[in-house]
Amino acid sequence: MPDLSSLKTVGIAGAGLVGRVLALNLIQRGIHVTLYEKDSANTPPNAAGYTAAGMLAPFAELELMDADLFQLGVRSIELWPNLLNWMAEQDCAVDFQHRGSLILAHNNDRADLHHFMRQLTHKLPDGYQVEQLNNARISELEPELAHHHQAWWLPIEGQVDSTQFFAQSERLLKNQWLVDWRENQTVEKVENHQIDGQAFDWVFDCRGLGAKTDIKDLRGVRGEVFWLDAREVKLSRPVRLMHPRYRIYIVPRADGRYVIGASEIESEDRSPMSVRSSLELLSAVYSVHPGFAEARIVNQLTNCRPALGDNLPRIEQLDGLTRINGLYRHGYLFSPAIVEKALAQLA
Ligand SMILES: Cc1cc2nc3c(=O)[nH]c(=O)nc-3n(C[C@H](O)[C@H](O)[C@H](O)COP(=O)(O)OP(=O)(O)OC[C@H]3O[C@@H](n4cnc5c(N)ncnc54)[C@H](O)[C@@H]3O)c2cc1C
Repeated sequence: MPDLSSLKTVGIAGAGLVGRVLALNLIQRGIHVTLYEKDSANTPPNAAGYTAAGMLAPFAELELMDADLFQLGVRSIELWPNLLNWMAEQDCAVDFQHRGSLILAHNNDRADLHHFMRQLTHKLPDGYQVEQLNNARISELEPELAHHHQAWWLPIEGQVDSTQFFAQSERLLKNQWLVDWRENQTVEKVENHQIDGQAFDWVFDCRGLGAKTDIKDLRGVRGEVFWLDAREVKLSRPVRLMHPRYRIYIVPRADGRYVIGASEIESEDRSPMSVRSSLELLSAVYSVHPGFAEARIVNQLTNCRPALGDNLPRIEQLDGLTRINGLYRHGYLFSPAIVEKALAQLA
């Protein structure tokens, strides 16, 4: 493995979430980066990272991970502010918050919530706690949810505004002399030290689902989200609702925008949202807060999460090539820490 400081040129296949986080980290070290991206600037990004709600939810996602991965998520929540503060210094600010999130259930699903929370607290590593909220505490944290009688507060959880992150990271990277951003370039071959025949000191494959020919157990998991504008609804942190089929969340963004997600379906179909998903997501959101009745639907997006056989993230180090993939439902939760880990392995 080379010393990281000896790398002068790095090629990255895929300017999605991981590719961008990686590129931002590399240019901070003064390394020249060439990014290959199949999308063009004139269309909305196809990356799963653009569709994502940007939730940072190590507690709520603990059922899907072990203690090490939980710590990786906590590490990312420490790293995001460093990266975003640096972006803000370059005049490319992105909204970020980590004031915790709420999880609640309607009466019919209360037993499911208790079961979920029992399992979660059982798996929680030492030193971390969640808080069961009564009606008074709910009113204190989220006054507009005062009609709910029971909820849990999951500390440090938060969110990155993924739409802003995509817009601002692209602006920053395209204006950097250390970056060669090649859009409209569908990479055919990622090999040791080479992308489509062009040589680099090191190469990273960050193509998400686009790396299927090289990663045999890679699959897509369909997810659908709504963007709603609801200026009369005032929620200040992400709220999750226990639901028999999905983990439904409401993620507040700036100016009364809310991202509502997400379905999870074992399919690589990227066609528009189904009637069933839209009924379930919208009725769930309306049942959490009746103010959503007058919300305006401004967008509905469908995408596929890149997932591996074990649903865990993977860093594969070869000579002259690192593959980072399988971030599944946790791209925002893991990407800064997984990039840190991949670069530490190089160093
Ligand atoms: C509906 C939904 C909601 C989600 N919500 C969350 C959430 O709240 N929190 C969270 O942590 N995670 C969430 N995720 C997961 C997260 O989006 C993914 O884990 C993450 O985007 C994976 O990052 P990636 O860079 O590997 O892939 P992507 O973000 O998909 O990026 C891959 C990039 O590679 C490009 N590419 C592909 N093939 C080629 C090629 N041959 N040549 C050149 N470029 C290529 C693509 O165009 C794309 O830009 C969600 C995902 C979905 C779908």
